[in-house]
Amino acid sequence: MDYQAVLEEVAAYARPFVRQGQVADYIPALERVSADRFGIAVADIHGAVYGVGDWEVPFSVQSISKTFSLALVMAQSPGNQGDGDIWKRVGREPSGTPFNSLVQLEAENGIPRNPFINAGALVVTDRLQTLTGDASTSMLHFLREESGNPDLAFDQAVADSEAEHGDRNAALAHFMASFGNLENPVPSVIEHYFWQCSIEMSCRDLAVAGGFLARHGLRADGSRLLEAREAKRINAVMLTCGTYDAAGEFAYRVGLPAKSGVGGGIIAVIPGRCTLCVWSPGLDARGNSVAGAAALDHFTTLTGWSVF
Ligand code: GLN
Repeated sequence: MDYQAVLEEVAAYARPFVRQGQVADYIPALERVSADRFGIAVADIHGAVYGVGDWEVPFSVQSISKTFSLALVMAQSPGNQGDGDIWKRVGREPSGTPFNSLVQLEAENGIPRNPFINAGALVVTDRLQTLTGDASTSMLHFLREESGNPDLAFDQAVADSEAEHGDRNAALAHFMASFGNLENPVPSVIEHYFWQCSIEMSCRDLAVAGGFLARHGLRADGSRLLEAREAKRINAVMLTCGTYDAAGEFAYRVGLPAKSGVGGGIIAVIPGRCTLCVWSPGLDARGNSVAGAAALDHFTTLTGWSVF
């Protein structure tokens, strides 16, 4: 496969979609990003990386971080084998509701539908905090190692801005705490969640760091992060829940496990082959990058490499 040629064709296809979406404006720090950006990268399972456009420009990973927090919790729960404690506290069904929705929590006793909506991600971060003593820093260190980029960092302005405008996430956390579904104090859980969302990475960094999902759980250095069946399960939850209430449409169009973030990034996995990351800040009404989804749609059409 000539990845470089495919990426160039995909970028040309996606270009007209780049200005169609709306840049996230719920915090001022994200609103400032130029809507014109577009980048895409592929990291194959052997470590080769290809990219086009703004593929080396760092952006705010936002909800893509939820994939890594889930992986780290599963990896650090020995004997868990994907069926352990965390799944007593968070489900794995698509929610059909927006990423920051509160509505299902009351009827479901404070157990969020899945780990990729905000409520579920807060529970996962809470667990990671208990396991590591410092959830966001342990994630940053993992991402530095896995991406091979020691310069990865939090964006303080984004984290502060999230906290300033964090009433919804605080409400989700307090509500779950009222059901006994948090182990740590609410302020500490939401602080670590905001920090993990603020990490800045490029398409290159994210495609490389997400390589373990394509390598059935093996890290870049060949050591095992997850059992193969745990990696399979994370990929399954990405496919069904990774793009929120657009997960059905996304599976229909793209046909890959994927996780989006309101920074405009999307990572997608082709198990056994490669991990992709695309970035373009214009979002659709569900919070997914418009040009990013178009690019991934075209990538699987050109290559025939959807999971279906
Ligand atoms: N930081 C954002 C929030 O919690 C992340 C949401 C997202 O990327 N979908 O609202």
